[in-house]
Parts: sequence; structure tokens; C-alpha cells
Amino acid sequence: MEQTNWRGQNGKLMRLISVKNHEKPIRHQGFVKETNIKQIFDLILEHGRISRVEISKKNKLSRAAVSMLVDELTKAGLVTIAGEGSSVSSGRKPIMLEINKDRAQIITLSLKKQSFTYVLFDLKGNEIETFSKKIVYKTGYAKKIRESILEKSPRLDVNKLLALCVTIPAKLNVSEKTINLSVLDIQGGCDLLAELKAVWPDIPLVAGNLSSAYAYAEYKYAYGGKINNMIFFYIDDGVGAGVLMNGRVFTSEIGHMSIDAEGPVCDCGKRGCVERMVGKTALLREFEQAGGIGPNAGYDTIRKALEKGDKQIVRISEQISGKIALCISNVICMFTPEELVVGGGIELLGKVFLDMIARRIELPGEKGVCSDKRPHISYSRIREHAEAKGAFRYFLDNILTITAETENKIYCWN
Ligand SMILES: [Zn+2]
Repeated sequence: MEQTNWRGQNGKLMRLISVKNHEKPIRHQGFVKETNIKQIFDLILEHGRISRVEISKKNKLSRAAVSMLVDELTKAGLVTIAGEGSSVSSGRKPIMLEINKDRAQIITLSLKKQSFTYVLFDLKGNEIETFSKKIVYKTGYAKKIRESILEKSPRLDVNKLLALCVTIPAKLNVSEKTINLSVLDIQGGCDLLAELKAVWPDIPLVAGNLSSAYAYAEYKYAYGGKINNMIFFYIDDGVGAGVLMNGRVFTSEIGHMSIDAEGPVCDCGKRGCVERMVGKTALLREFEQAGGIGPNAGYDTIRKALEKGDKQIVRISEQISGKIALCISNVICMFTPEELVVGGGIELLGKVFLDMIARRIELPGEKGVCSDKRPHISYSRIREHAEAKGAFRYFLDNILTITAETENKIYCWN
């Protein structure tokens, strides 16, 4: 089997499928081919198993064109035969295709306040290996992360790596490729992205905002890409939102939206920021100060007390859920989403708490207007490594190219 090694000797990322010199297409044809072959790759990824006939029906290419492009994908080892499907009529059973999961690997890193989580994915998006470790974000941190990975991830095959995808709880400056306003403890002005790229010089670095990565995972894996407008509220120590509008995700820094002009001073210098009022630390402190829970108690204790109807805990929860609902109501005014998803850890407070938030959301002109216009609210449906799944999928959907060259550089998305 002829399989292109996609990385050149100089470390520059090559095409997954090389274009032979004598058939070098003119610019426009090259673009059409890339679009078509990528669409087929995406369809196979999306469906898990799919036949050539189904592909041809879905992307409106002729069966001959689909067969030719599928042949190129199989020759390059990116797609493989997954056996026979069931035939719809009495005709021949269709040959099913699937992504060859072992052809490539993708690393994701989720940077948290004082730790990071590593997840290694195969090309189909299955998790191969994962671990979390403490880290101090100062010069040399990226080298330490790389050493930990090489030590703790025996199934990593660096020759198969396509990209390093990282999620950061911070606002990313997409053009400068730098980080603004982060809950990470970054010491001595360490340039997080430049350092990471320097220790993985031969693959692209794809850096995304944490809330956006959560939103993208929800969009693709929980809704199967079949939704246009959704907001994902990430509530942990930091608070943020990933906004899906017309199928495109971007970050909203709602954590630093003030919901109380007289409120406590936030790290950003403003008063009454959402993050300062309902971020995990603030939230647990509020419960503790009101005498609801002990100093080491967490979300679990609160959830159990809420389920039992503990009056004290219910009272404090009403106040806090009111603040979250105020923030959500403000964001709804801006984006009018169909769906609201809440996650990032706060889902551990359980359904009673979510119902409290839902009841307190107020929409403009709502009084007297039928209530079915309210967006549906739910907790995140992806239980584990949602941000890693979002980062992995974003890279495959939006950055990876098949016959065109994927540039070996730093990509930022918000
Ligand atoms: Zn703030």
C-alpha cells in the first residue's frame, strides 16, 4: 500500500495525499478536489460507517467521482473497508467504509489553573491514553509537559502525530497568537503558545478557548451538528461562554460581565463580575459563609442537601441561581439561542439547581408572551474530556486538509 509520509525532512507538514507533479492541478481545480475529498472524509467520520452510494447521495457527487476520491483515501490509508452493509433492495450488499483509526494520532492538552490533562486520540476520535498532572506555568513548562507525555503515554507514536491541540481558559488574541485575561497562574510573562510550539516543532499547534471547545464538542457530539444557535455556559473557577451562531463557534467573555456595580472587586479590576460572583470558588465560599456547608465540602454535599430540601441550602441556592440566571438572561438578549447548555463542573449541583436557574431566567417582553419561546436549558451531555473532544474535532473539521498542505504553524481559534 502506497502511504505518503506527511511530514517532510525539514519538518514542514506535507499533504496527507500528495499530488504528483505531472498532474498538478491548476489552482481552481485543486480547490474543488480538496473540497470534495475533505467532504467525503468528513462524511465518513461523521457517520462512522457509510457506503459509496450513501456518500454520493449526501454530497451530490456522481458515483464515479466518489469512487475515485474514496480510492485515493484508501490508497493513502486514511479510509478502510468495514465489511458489508445491509442492502436496501434485493441488490448487492454495499461495501461500508470507515476512517482508518490507526493511521494518525492527535494530542490534546487541556490547561487548567495549576494542572493539565492530556488525551491522545486516534484518527476516529477514540481516546487512546489520558492522564492529568500538576504544572507551574513558567518558562520551561512546555518541556516538562513533553517529558511527562513521553514517559506516561507508551502508545503515543510521534511519527503518526498530526497536530497538538490545546484548550486554554483565556481569551486568545487570534492575530497576535497570544493569551489575554486568563485564570491560569502564568509566571514571569511565559509565552505559553510559543513555548509549546518550540517543543513540538514539526506539527501544527492549534490553540482554542476552553468554553468554545466545550461548545464545539456539544455541537458536534451531543447535537450531531444539527443545530445552528446554541450557547454553552462554562462555570468552574473561571466563567465563560462558547457561542454557536449559524454553525460557527466563538468565545464570549461573560465571566467579566458585571452583574452588580457595587459587588466585590474581580481580578480584572472591575466590580461584580460574574466570575467573581458565581465562579466555583466564590460559590462554595458563599455557601460556607452562610453556614450551609463545611469548609471542605463540595458540589456533592450541596446537591444532596438540595435533593432533601434542606431549607438553608435551598435559600442560598435560590440567591446564587438568581445571579447565574441574570447573566444568562443578559446573554440571551444578545444572541437569541435555541438551546442553552450549562457545564464545566457545575452540573454536579444536580437537576434541582438547574431548575432554579431555568425558573429565574427572564426574557424581554416575556410577561404575557407564550413561554414556548424560551430557549431549552440543559446540562452538558458529554461527561468526560468534553473540551478535548471539541478541540480534536475542531482541528479535523476546520484546519486539517487532505490534498492541500496543512501549514505547520500556530493556529488560534476563539
Ligand atoms: Zn472581572
